[in-house]
Amino acid sequence: STHVEQREFQAEARQLLDLMIHSIYSNKDTFLRELISNASDALDKLRLEAFRNKDLNVDTSDLHIELDVDKDARTLTIRDNGIGMSRDEVVDLIGTLARSGTGELRKKLREAKDAAASEELIGQFGIGFYSAFMVADKVTLVTHKPGQDAGTRWESSGESTYTIEDVEDAPQGTSVTLHLKPEDADDHLYDYTSQWKLEEIVKKYSDFIAWPIRMEVSRTTKGEDGTDEVTFETKTLNSQKALWARSRDEVSDDEYHEFYKHVAHAWDEPLEIIPMRAEGTFEYQALLFIPTHAPFDLFARERKTGIQLYVKRVFIMDDCEDLIPEYLRFVKGVVDAQDLSLNVSREILQQDRQIRAIRRRLTKKVLSTVKDMATQDADKYRTFWNEFGRVLKEGLISDTDNRDTLLAISSFDSTASAEEQTTLAGYVERMKDGQDEIYYITGESRQLLESSPHMEAFTAKGIEVLLLTDPVDEMWVTSVPEFEGKAFRSVAKGEVDLDTEDEKKAAEAEREEQEKEFGDLLTWMKETLDEHVKEVRLSSRLTTSPACIVGDTFSMSPALERMYKASGQ
Ligand code: ADP
Ligand code: MG
Repeated sequence: STHVEQREFQAEARQLLDLMIHSIYSNKDTFLRELISNASDALDKLRLEAFRNKDLNVDTSDLHIELDVDKDARTLTIRDNGIGMSRDEVVDLIGTLARSGTGELRKKLREAKDAAASEELIGQFGIGFYSAFMVADKVTLVTHKPGQDAGTRWESSGESTYTIEDVEDAPQGTSVTLHLKPEDADDHLYDYTSQWKLEEIVKKYSDFIAWPIRMEVSRTTKGEDGTDEVTFETKTLNSQKALWARSRDEVSDDEYHEFYKHVAHAWDEPLEIIPMRAEGTFEYQALLFIPTHAPFDLFARERKTGIQLYVKRVFIMDDCEDLIPEYLRFVKGVVDAQDLSLNVSREILQQDRQIRAIRRRLTKKVLSTVKDMATQDADKYRTFWNEFGRVLKEGLISDTDNRDTLLAISSFDSTASAEEQTTLAGYVERMKDGQDEIYYITGESRQLLESSPHMEAFTAKGIEVLLLTDPVDEMWVTSVPEFEGKAFRSVAKGEVDLDTEDEKKAAEAEREEQEKEFGDLLTWMKETLDEHVKEVRLSSRLTTSPACIVGDTFSMSPALERMYKASGQ
């Protein structure tokens, strides 16, 4: 059974490893954060599993993480007695890149030419386990999952292959041993066999981890006879304080940032930190984050939501979609509810009044945070909107309760400016005397829209038009009736009336004249195009193009028609 099997890494995993090995990522220390984060997740999972499955024969009396250094062998081992992995899980989770957005990553990897570009990638993809290869030239993982007869040993030097074999006597949980790269003579800062160095990194990146992170440390004292005496003791390196249970002024931004990276599995900094607490009937604490960068799977079918649910400090589940509406799926963080059962299941959560109440509060809080951002920090708001605006606008369709707030915090491209987007309030402020509708046009790009014949009359009269280019725009703009009493009106549909009374009279006279002049032509066109058009008429909406095709007021726009066609309807 100790048969050693050699396997190939999946292509993306191989490229990623390559990136890690040759990375000059400026902050290599973060590998430890990633491995500790994984160990902590594994302990959370085991505690919950043991609670739910009383038949599971595991020891949960002393769940912890351990760092173990062998200076002579130059190895560092990160060990946990958590949930472990089966052999298949090792292959799936470690041997392949199980993360979504792999297609995107592959593309980016191909494009990344220089070190700076790959550093950027490391940050964006949040590469967990593989970050070990930034500091190690060989990694050995031994793991044993409760309930499995044997354990599994996995080893790789980060080239194209890894080996995998069964091991009989592996203890519960997982150990990851890093065979550290040869020390850079000039660079004692990166000595990962140094006790103080490891202590420092743990304090900095993993202090809040709920499980004890232990290490054997040496202490030199003077013995009775005056000689140095070295004693060893096991020290817990982290304070284990749950950040969400502490008030905001007790916690530094750095601590929040590191916690964010742990819960969100992210490498960027949070754009906003949102601590919340509620006392009374439904008691809970929450700590939410808005990321700086959108993840690559934001629009993937198998995307995840980012909220972890805890009950009285005990981890219950990842991706708790009942706690946050889908259009806020980019929000990361934890909710710790006091009055739920530890046995709570996803099915129960769906029905739970308390969860629904928390969800409403979280939603309002996130939206009001964005609103404050928009009024207080324009740059930050712009970053936010560029990354998440497309998702937030989904809420205009699905969340009618918060529609007004959502409309107020949304921005759009407009003919008013090529650089700056506008809010709807800004648009309304600039509306012409007598204008009572908000004009928009939808399509694939600003450039296409600007040159659309439908725009000509508006451009000629200097009337502002919103240029809506996100697919979701098609959907909300037809389902949201109005903003501050002003209806949304497509410039590509029906009759759009842009003229004043005097202009109308003049135009009417001119039209009568023209109809006489062009009557024969119109009749001929109508007969010739018979099957394809409902009507052929003279129009005042064009100033430079000779003709354009117009939809009925209630017909689909060309873009929506394309969308339906593309989805096979
Ligand atoms: P992430 O943590 O974002 O899922 P990682 O690359 O850090 O990505 O880890 C990949 C997966 O490998 C984890 O999701 C987990 O299932 C598994 N894993 C990693 N380390 C451990 C561990 N110490 N114990 C159990 N499972 C682990
Ligand atoms: Mg991880």
